[in-house]
This record gives sequence, C-alpha cells and structure tokens, in this order.
Amino acid sequence: MDLGLAGKRAVVTGGSSGIGLATARKLLAEGALVAICARGAERLEQAAGTLRAEFGVQNLVTHAADVLDAQAVAGLAEAVRSRFGGCDILINNAGQGRLGSFAETSDADWRAEYELKLFSQINPARAFEAMLREARGALVAVNSLLAIQPEPHMVATASARAGVQNLIKSLAREWAPQVRVNSILLGLVISGQWERRFAAREDQRVTRAEWFADLARRRDIPLGRLGEAEEAAAAIAFLASPAAGYITGASLEVSGGLSRHI
Ligand code: NDP
Repeated sequence: MDLGLAGKRAVVTGGSSGIGLATARKLLAEGALVAICARGAERLEQAAGTLRAEFGVQNLVTHAADVLDAQAVAGLAEAVRSRFGGCDILINNAGQGRLGSFAETSDADWRAEYELKLFSQINPARAFEAMLREARGALVAVNSLLAIQPEPHMVATASARAGVQNLIKSLAREWAPQVRVNSILLGLVISGQWERRFAAREDQRVTRAEWFADLARRRDIPLGRLGEAEEAAAAIAFLASPAAGYITGASLEVSGGLSRHI
C-alpha cells in the first residue's frame, strides 16, 4: 500500500529514541523529509547518525529543543521552514510516563505531569499551525490507552492523558478542514522508557526476555507480548499520511488488545 508520504515534510518531537526514532525511520523509508527534536543533543546526533547512514544526509534535520520551551519550539519551526519550506506532518510524541498512585503523587508531580502532557502538544501545535494549514497537513498525537482506561499505578499520567485526548478532539474541529488531527492510544510498547525500567529491575538475574514476558503476563496483554516501536510507528505513519485522508478527530489503539471497552 502506498501511503503517499514521498516528499512530505514531517516533524517528529522526541525523535532520538523509541517510538519517535522508529517513526522518523518509517517516514524516511516512505520518502518523506524529516526533522527530529529532543532535549539531549548528544543522543539526538547519535540517532541522526544512524538515520543518515540509512537514508543519506539530505532528508534529515535535527534540532535540540525542549518541547516545553515555547521559544525553542518556535526555533524548531523556523529551522523546518528554512530547510524544507514548510511542514505537512507534525508528530507530537516527546515525553514519558510517570509511575505513581494518588498517594504517591505530590502537587509538584501533578503540575509537572500536566505541563508535560498538555504543553508537549500545545507548544508544537502553536508553532506549526500556520505551516500545517498552508500545507493542508496532519497532526498525530502520540497518546496512551491510559487516557480512556486509567491504571492505579499511573494516576497522574492517566488523568493528564485524558486531557490530551480531549484537546486533540477540539483541535480536530478547530483546524478542519485544512488540517487533520488524530491520536494513537498506546498500550505497552518497548522503547527507551521500558529499557530503562528493565535496567533498574529489582532482581538483576532476571533476563530481558523473562522480564518482558512476565510484564506481558501480569498486564494480561491478549497478544501475549509488548509492542515493538516499529508497530507504533506504522500506525502513526498511516494516520499522518494521505492514505488516511478522510480520518480526523479519531484515535487508533495500538495495544495488543489491552482495552476492555467495546
Ligand atoms: P523514549 O524514552 O524511548 O523516547 C522519548 C523521546 O522523547 C526521547 O527522544 C526524549 O529525548 C524525548 N523527550 C522527552 N521529553 C522531552 C521534552 N520535554 N522535549 C523534547 N523531547 C523530549 O520513550 P517512548 O518512545 O516510549 O515515548 C514516546 C511517547 O510515547 C511518549 O510521549 C510516551 O509517554 C508515549 N507512550 C509510550 C508508551 C510505551 O509503552 N512506550 C505507552 C504510552 C505512551 P530527550 O530525553 O533527550 O529529550
């Protein structure tokens, strides 16, 4: 299936690791021009090195930026306009989850989590709105199944994720008909976040395969395993592409069947 991504100009926030990196790779493989940002310049350049080795130097822009810093995100938008002349696709992916029950979450944690989840959408949306409208483009928000199915061990993340889902629906309405706005709802997908949790496991004798298999069992994932970053990236690329031209205000679950609603 041709997704129609050749020549499209895409921005992936949090493109130096995990799902963002896999998404950048997928978009490049489909012939898109891609800009990636992250806070850590060193890891960003490492990721860019592997992408440039696979796809050449022409089609990739890197820009170190914290998505919570509106000025830095505006700088990313300027860099994209000057290098690509515009932007067809914005993938709001940067971020991470916060573990904790209500009792374990301080006021400062609540504020930080709401700021991360909401402003990692708001700042790039503001910075790229004009270019997306000009290009009749698409925004994809990388969100979590927690938005509609909270878990007791991630109370603040789940609550903030619900806010993101609501925001994305409003944006889809406000930016129509020029810009399509959709989200993906992830279950558990192997990425930098999960690799870090594995590295910090209590019993260091447990192997990687054992640890992830046990996690899938405990979470009762119907497909019996965590997802791969490439599987999330495939869904993101589809929603961002002209192949999804009549889809807006929608969400696509990539969770191995973890959702319990119909
Ligand atoms: P990774 O840790 O592998 O990647 C996160 C990326 O985001 C890195 O490139 C990181 O780089 C960047 N990043 C984090 N914070 C910021 C920031 N403030 N500004 C700019 N870049 C930032 O994690 P994942 O691939 O798992 O995460 C991708 C998204 O998917 C996140 O929003 C996460 O919450 C979401 N998600 C993931 C799930 C999973 O199971 N993997 C489940 C549900 C949602 P740097 O640290 O250098 O800034």
